[in-house]
Amino acid sequence: MIREFVKSFQPYKVVEGNYRIWLDKNENPYDLPGWVKEEIFEELKDLSFNRYPHITSMPVREAIADFYGLSPENVAVGNGGDELISYLVWLFEGEQVVTTPPSFGMYNFYAKLNGIPVVEVPLLEDFTIDGDAIAERSKNARVIFIASPNNPTGNLQPEAEIIKVLETGRPVVLDEAYAEFAGKSLWRLIEDYPNLIVLRTFSKAFSLAGVRTGYLLANEEIVDALYRVKSPFSVGVMTMAAVKVVLRHHELVERRVAKIIEERERIRKAFREFTYPSDANFLLMRLNAYEFLLEKGIVVRKLSGRLDGHIRVTVGRKWENRELIEALREFLEVKGCG
Ligand code: PMP
Repeated sequence: MIREFVKSFQPYKVVEGNYRIWLDKNENPYDLPGWVKEEIFEELKDLSFNRYPHITSMPVREAIADFYGLSPENVAVGNGGDELISYLVWLFEGEQVVTTPPSFGMYNFYAKLNGIPVVEVPLLEDFTIDGDAIAERSKNARVIFIASPNNPTGNLQPEAEIIKVLETGRPVVLDEAYAEFAGKSLWRLIEDYPNLIVLRTFSKAFSLAGVRTGYLLANEEIVDALYRVKSPFSVGVMTMAAVKVVLRHHELVERRVAKIIEERERIRKAFREFTYPSDANFLLMRLNAYEFLLEKGIVVRKLSGRLDGHIRVTVGRKWENRELIEALREFLEVKGCG
Protein backbone atom coordinates (compact mmCIF):
# COMPACT_ATOMS: atom_id res chain seq x y z
CA MET A 1 0.00 0.00 0.00
CA ILE A 2 2.78 2.43 0.91
CA ARG A 3 4.81 3.72 -2.05
CA GLU A 4 8.34 2.31 -2.43
CA PHE A 5 9.48 5.92 -2.81
CA VAL A 6 8.20 6.71 0.68
CA LYS A 7 9.89 3.61 2.08
CA SER A 8 13.19 4.92 0.70
CA PHE A 9 13.10 7.70 3.35
CA GLN A 10 14.51 7.19 6.82
CA PRO A 11 12.46 8.93 9.52
CA TYR A 12 14.26 11.99 10.94
CA LYS A 13 16.12 10.57 13.91
CA VAL A 14 16.92 12.32 17.16
CA VAL A 15 18.34 10.78 20.31
CA GLU A 16 15.74 10.23 23.00
CA GLY A 17 16.19 9.02 26.55
CA ASN A 18 17.11 10.04 30.02
CA TYR A 19 20.27 12.01 29.43
CA ARG A 20 21.41 14.90 31.59
CA ILE A 21 22.78 17.35 29.05
CA TRP A 22 21.37 18.00 25.59
CA LEU A 23 23.81 19.67 23.21
CA ASP A 24 22.61 18.03 20.00
CA LYS A 25 20.04 20.29 18.31
CA ASN A 26 21.59 23.76 18.28
CA GLU A 27 18.87 25.00 20.59
CA ASN A 28 19.19 28.01 22.84
CA PRO A 29 20.07 26.70 26.31
CA TYR A 30 18.10 29.50 27.97
CA ASP A 31 14.32 29.29 28.05
CA LEU A 32 12.39 32.57 28.10
CA PRO A 33 12.27 34.06 31.60
CA GLY A 34 8.98 33.73 33.48
CA TRP A 35 8.12 37.43 33.12
CA VAL A 36 8.34 37.24 29.31
CA LYS A 37 6.19 34.11 29.32
CA GLU A 38 3.68 36.01 31.50
CA GLU A 39 3.49 38.71 28.84
CA ILE A 40 2.79 36.04 26.24
CA PHE A 41 0.07 34.52 28.45
CA GLU A 42 -1.51 37.96 28.80
CA GLU A 43 -1.68 38.25 25.00
CA LEU A 44 -3.16 34.76 24.74
CA LYS A 45 -6.06 35.69 27.06
CA ASP A 46 -7.57 37.99 24.46
CA LEU A 47 -7.26 35.63 21.50
CA SER A 48 -10.14 33.66 20.02
CA PHE A 49 -8.96 30.06 20.03
CA ASN A 50 -12.02 28.96 18.07
CA ARG A 51 -11.06 31.07 15.05
CA TYR A 52 -8.41 30.29 12.45
CA PRO A 53 -5.34 32.47 12.53
CA HIS A 54 -4.84 35.28 10.01
CA ILE A 55 -4.55 33.59 6.62
CA THR A 56 -1.24 35.19 5.65
CA SER A 57 0.03 35.76 9.22
CA MET A 58 -0.15 39.53 8.77
CA PRO A 59 0.09 40.47 12.49
CA VAL A 60 3.44 38.78 12.89
CA ARG A 61 4.74 39.80 9.44
CA GLU A 62 4.06 43.42 10.42
CA ALA A 63 5.98 42.99 13.68
CA ILE A 64 8.96 41.46 11.84
CA ALA A 65 8.81 44.11 9.10
CA ASP A 66 8.86 46.89 11.75
CA PHE A 67 11.87 45.28 13.37
CA TYR A 68 13.81 45.49 10.07
CA GLY A 69 12.28 48.68 8.71
CA LEU A 70 10.83 46.73 5.79
CA SER A 71 7.31 46.35 4.45
CA PRO A 72 5.26 43.24 5.42
CA GLU A 73 5.22 42.50 1.68
CA ASN A 74 8.91 41.63 2.05
CA VAL A 75 8.29 39.13 4.85
CA ALA A 76 6.86 35.60 4.82
CA VAL A 77 6.56 33.39 7.90
CA GLY A 78 6.28 29.65 8.21
CA ASN A 79 5.92 26.89 10.76
CA GLY A 80 9.68 26.90 11.28
CA GLY A 81 12.21 27.71 8.58
CA ASP A 82 11.74 24.10 7.52
CA GLU A 83 8.24 24.78 6.21
CA LEU A 84 9.56 27.64 4.08
CA ILE A 85 12.35 25.44 2.69
CA SER A 86 9.69 22.89 1.71
CA TYR A 87 8.19 25.50 -0.69
CA LEU A 88 11.41 27.16 -1.80
CA VAL A 89 12.66 23.96 -3.44
CA TRP A 90 9.86 24.13 -6.04
CA LEU A 91 8.74 27.76 -6.21
CA PHE A 92 11.02 28.79 -9.08
CA GLU A 93 11.52 27.85 -12.70
CA GLY A 94 14.54 25.78 -13.62
CA GLU A 95 15.76 22.27 -13.02
CA GLN A 96 18.02 21.41 -10.14
CA VAL A 97 18.32 22.40 -6.51
CA VAL A 98 21.95 23.29 -5.77
CA THR A 99 23.38 22.59 -2.33
CA THR A 100 26.85 22.86 -0.79
CA PRO A 101 27.55 19.85 1.43
CA PRO A 102 28.32 19.37 4.22
CA SER A 103 25.35 21.57 5.06
CA PHE A 104 21.82 21.51 6.46
CA GLY A 105 20.08 18.29 5.40
CA MET A 106 16.59 19.68 4.84
CA TYR A 107 17.44 21.18 1.41
CA ASN A 108 18.21 17.74 0.02
CA PHE A 109 15.33 16.17 1.92
CA TYR A 110 12.65 18.42 0.40
CA ALA A 111 14.24 18.25 -3.05
CA LYS A 112 14.12 14.46 -2.95
CA LEU A 113 10.56 14.48 -1.59
CA ASN A 114 9.52 16.51 -4.64
CA GLY A 115 11.52 14.41 -7.10
CA ILE A 116 13.82 17.35 -7.89
CA PRO A 117 17.41 16.56 -8.92
CA VAL A 118 20.11 17.95 -6.63
CA VAL A 119 23.49 19.26 -7.74
CA GLU A 120 26.00 19.19 -4.90
CA VAL A 121 28.92 21.62 -5.01
CA PRO A 122 31.04 20.63 -2.00
CA LEU A 123 32.51 23.21 0.33
CA LEU A 124 36.23 23.83 -0.02
CA GLU A 125 38.79 22.42 2.43
CA ASP A 126 38.20 25.34 4.84
CA PHE A 127 34.39 24.88 4.54
CA THR A 128 33.87 28.06 2.53
CA ILE A 129 31.82 28.04 -0.66
CA ASP A 130 33.44 28.24 -4.07
CA GLY A 131 31.35 30.96 -5.72
CA ASP A 132 32.74 30.32 -9.21
CA ALA A 133 32.10 26.57 -9.01
CA ILE A 134 28.54 27.15 -7.80
CA ALA A 135 27.88 29.69 -10.55
CA GLU A 136 29.32 27.32 -13.15
CA ARG A 137 27.01 24.49 -12.06
CA SER A 138 23.89 26.60 -11.52
CA LYS A 139 23.15 27.64 -15.11
CA ASN A 140 19.75 25.97 -14.99
CA ALA A 141 19.25 25.82 -11.24
CA ARG A 142 15.82 26.47 -9.85
CA VAL A 143 17.30 27.51 -6.53
CA ILE A 144 20.67 27.55 -4.75
CA PHE A 145 20.89 27.02 -0.97
CA ILE A 146 23.79 28.53 0.98
CA ALA A 147 23.86 28.46 4.79
CA SER A 148 25.84 31.22 6.48
CA PRO A 149 26.85 30.49 9.20
CA ASN A 150 26.83 26.97 7.87
CA ASN A 151 25.44 24.02 9.81
CA PRO A 152 27.30 21.80 10.83
CA THR A 153 30.63 23.56 10.18
CA GLY A 154 29.78 26.82 11.97
CA ASN A 155 31.52 29.26 9.63
CA LEU A 156 30.17 32.35 7.90
CA GLN A 157 30.53 32.32 4.12
CA PRO A 158 32.61 35.07 2.50
CA GLU A 159 30.47 37.90 1.19
CA ALA A 160 32.44 38.13 -2.07
CA GLU A 161 31.68 34.47 -2.85
CA ILE A 162 27.99 34.92 -2.06
CA ILE A 163 27.92 37.92 -4.41
CA LYS A 164 29.41 35.80 -7.19
CA VAL A 165 26.51 33.37 -6.77
CA LEU A 166 23.94 36.19 -6.63
CA GLU A 167 25.33 37.60 -9.86
CA THR A 168 24.14 34.46 -11.68
CA GLY A 169 20.62 35.84 -11.30
CA ARG A 170 19.36 32.41 -10.21
CA PRO A 171 17.27 32.36 -6.99
CA VAL A 172 19.57 32.11 -3.96
CA VAL A 173 18.35 31.15 -0.48
CA LEU A 174 20.83 32.51 2.02
CA ASP A 175 20.00 30.56 5.16
CA GLU A 176 20.96 32.74 8.12
CA ALA A 177 19.38 30.65 10.88
CA TYR A 178 22.40 31.42 13.12
CA ALA A 179 23.14 35.00 11.99
CA GLU A 180 22.61 36.54 15.43
CA PHE A 181 25.60 34.57 16.76
CA ALA A 182 27.77 35.84 13.92
CA GLY A 183 26.79 39.47 14.43
CA LYS A 184 26.55 39.74 10.67
CA SER A 185 23.72 39.42 8.16
CA LEU A 186 23.43 40.20 4.47
CA TRP A 187 19.66 40.79 4.56
CA ARG A 188 20.05 44.32 3.22
CA LEU A 189 21.23 42.86 -0.08
CA ILE A 190 17.60 41.97 -0.87
CA GLU A 191 17.31 45.58 -2.03
CA ASP A 192 20.04 45.06 -4.66
CA TYR A 193 19.33 41.45 -5.61
CA PRO A 194 15.72 40.51 -6.40
CA ASN A 195 16.89 36.88 -6.61
CA LEU A 196 17.97 36.82 -2.94
CA ILE A 197 15.86 35.16 -0.26
CA VAL A 198 17.21 35.50 3.28
CA LEU A 199 15.93 32.77 5.58
CA ARG A 200 15.85 33.36 9.34
CA THR A 201 14.33 31.64 12.37
CA PHE A 202 13.12 32.32 15.90
CA SER A 203 14.32 28.86 16.97
CA LYS A 204 17.90 29.78 17.86
CA ALA A 205 18.77 33.24 19.22
CA PHE A 206 15.13 33.93 20.21
CA SER A 207 14.69 30.71 22.25
CA LEU A 208 11.48 29.71 20.42
CA ALA A 209 12.40 26.32 18.91
CA GLY A 210 9.33 24.77 20.53
CA VAL A 211 7.02 27.48 19.20
CA ARG A 212 8.07 26.89 15.55
CA THR A 213 8.46 30.05 13.51
CA GLY A 214 10.82 30.83 10.70
CA TYR A 215 10.63 33.72 8.26
CA LEU A 216 12.14 34.95 5.08
CA LEU A 217 12.99 38.37 3.76
CA ALA A 218 12.76 38.83 0.00
CA ASN A 219 11.25 41.03 -2.68
CA GLU A 220 7.47 41.40 -2.94
CA GLU A 221 7.14 39.20 -6.00
CA ILE A 222 8.68 36.18 -4.26
CA VAL A 223 6.65 36.70 -1.08
CA ASP A 224 3.47 37.05 -3.15
CA ALA A 225 4.28 33.85 -5.06
CA LEU A 226 4.90 31.99 -1.83
CA TYR A 227 1.55 32.98 -0.38
CA ARG A 228 -0.20 31.70 -3.49
CA VAL A 229 0.92 28.17 -2.67
CA LYS A 230 1.61 28.15 1.06
CA SER A 231 -0.48 26.01 3.37
CA PRO A 232 -2.96 28.65 4.58
CA PHE A 233 -3.13 28.43 8.39
CA SER A 234 0.22 26.94 9.33
CA VAL A 235 1.22 29.71 11.75
CA GLY A 236 -1.11 29.61 14.74
CA VAL A 237 -2.38 32.41 16.96
CA MET A 238 -0.27 31.30 19.94
CA THR A 239 2.87 31.27 17.83
CA MET A 240 2.21 34.76 16.51
CA ALA A 241 1.58 36.08 20.02
CA ALA A 242 4.85 34.61 21.30
CA VAL A 243 6.87 36.05 18.42
CA LYS A 244 5.36 39.52 18.84
CA VAL A 245 6.24 39.58 22.55
CA VAL A 246 9.76 38.25 22.08
CA LEU A 247 10.49 40.88 19.43
CA ARG A 248 9.70 43.51 22.06
CA HIS A 249 12.55 42.15 24.20
CA HIS A 250 15.34 42.21 21.75
CA GLU A 251 17.88 43.50 24.25
CA LEU A 252 17.33 40.36 26.35
CA VAL A 253 18.02 38.24 23.29
CA GLU A 254 21.19 40.22 22.60
CA ARG A 255 22.47 39.73 26.15
CA ARG A 256 21.93 35.98 25.90
CA VAL A 257 23.57 35.80 22.50
CA ALA A 258 26.61 37.56 23.99
CA LYS A 259 26.73 34.98 26.82
CA ILE A 260 26.52 32.10 24.36
CA ILE A 261 29.32 33.57 22.26
CA GLU A 262 31.49 33.95 25.38
CA GLU A 263 30.86 30.32 26.31
CA ARG A 264 31.48 29.18 22.74
CA GLU A 265 34.92 30.78 22.82
CA ARG A 266 35.65 29.24 26.23
CA ILE A 267 34.99 25.74 24.90
CA ARG A 268 36.99 26.42 21.77
CA LYS A 269 39.95 27.68 23.76
CA ALA A 270 39.97 24.48 25.82
CA PHE A 271 40.24 22.30 22.69
CA ARG A 272 41.70 24.66 20.10
CA GLU A 273 43.63 21.89 18.38
CA PHE A 274 40.46 19.88 17.70
CA THR A 275 37.89 22.64 17.23
CA TYR A 276 37.05 24.77 14.22
CA PRO A 277 36.28 28.47 14.61
CA SER A 278 32.55 29.11 14.85
CA ASP A 279 30.22 32.01 14.05
CA ALA A 280 27.21 30.10 15.37
CA ASN A 281 25.91 28.65 18.68
CA PHE A 282 27.67 25.33 18.14
CA LEU A 283 31.15 24.00 17.51
CA LEU A 284 32.49 21.43 15.10
CA MET A 285 35.08 19.23 16.81
CA ARG A 286 37.46 16.72 15.30
CA LEU A 287 36.92 14.30 18.17
CA ASN A 288 35.39 10.87 17.86
CA ALA A 289 33.82 11.26 21.28
CA TYR A 290 30.12 10.71 20.61
CA GLU A 291 29.74 7.39 22.47
CA PHE A 292 32.08 8.46 25.26
CA LEU A 293 29.99 11.59 25.92
CA LEU A 294 26.72 9.67 25.70
CA GLU A 295 27.91 7.35 28.43
CA LYS A 296 28.47 10.43 30.57
CA GLY A 297 24.91 11.55 29.87
CA ILE A 298 25.90 14.24 27.38
CA VAL A 299 24.18 14.15 23.99
CA VAL A 300 25.92 15.79 21.03
CA ARG A 301 25.50 15.31 17.27
CA LYS A 302 27.52 12.58 15.61
CA LEU A 303 28.56 13.46 12.07
CA SER A 304 29.31 11.20 9.13
CA GLY A 305 30.52 11.19 5.53
CA ARG A 306 33.19 13.83 4.99
CA LEU A 307 32.88 14.70 8.69
CA ASP A 308 33.18 11.14 9.94
CA GLY A 309 34.89 11.13 13.34
CA HIS A 310 33.63 14.65 14.10
CA ILE A 311 30.99 15.83 16.54
CA ARG A 312 28.84 18.96 16.53
CA VAL A 313 28.38 20.40 19.99
CA THR A 314 25.75 23.01 20.83
CA VAL A 315 26.89 25.63 23.33
CA GLY A 316 24.95 25.04 26.54
CA ARG A 317 24.62 26.72 29.91
CA LYS A 318 27.79 27.37 31.86
CA TRP A 319 27.53 24.26 34.04
CA GLU A 320 26.73 22.10 31.04
CA ASN A 321 29.75 23.42 29.17
CA ARG A 322 31.91 22.83 32.24
CA GLU A 323 30.81 19.20 32.34
CA LEU A 324 31.37 18.87 28.60
CA ILE A 325 34.89 20.26 28.92
CA GLU A 326 35.67 17.90 31.81
CA ALA A 327 34.32 14.91 29.92
CA LEU A 328 36.28 15.78 26.78
CA ARG A 329 39.49 16.23 28.79
CA GLU A 330 38.94 12.77 30.22
CA PHE A 331 38.28 11.43 26.72
CA LEU A 332 41.60 12.83 25.53
CA GLU A 333 43.42 11.36 28.53
CA VAL A 334 41.91 7.94 27.94
CA LYS A 335 42.92 8.26 24.30
CA GLY A 336 46.41 9.21 25.37
CA CYS A 337 46.47 12.58 23.62
CA GLY A 338 45.85 14.78 26.67
N1 PMP B 1 18.49 26.33 8.64
C1 PMP B 1 19.48 25.79 9.34
C2 PMP B 1 20.87 25.92 8.83
C3 PMP B 1 19.21 25.11 10.53
O1 PMP B 1 20.22 24.54 11.21
C4 PMP B 1 17.87 25.02 10.98
C5 PMP B 1 17.50 24.29 12.25
N2 PMP B 1 18.23 23.26 12.66
C6 PMP B 1 16.87 25.59 10.20
C7 PMP B 1 17.21 26.25 9.04
C8 PMP B 1 15.41 25.49 10.49
O2 PMP B 1 15.03 25.81 11.75
P1 PMP B 1 13.50 25.94 12.18
O3 PMP B 1 12.69 25.03 11.30
O4 PMP B 1 13.48 25.54 13.61
O5 PMP B 1 13.14 27.39 11.94
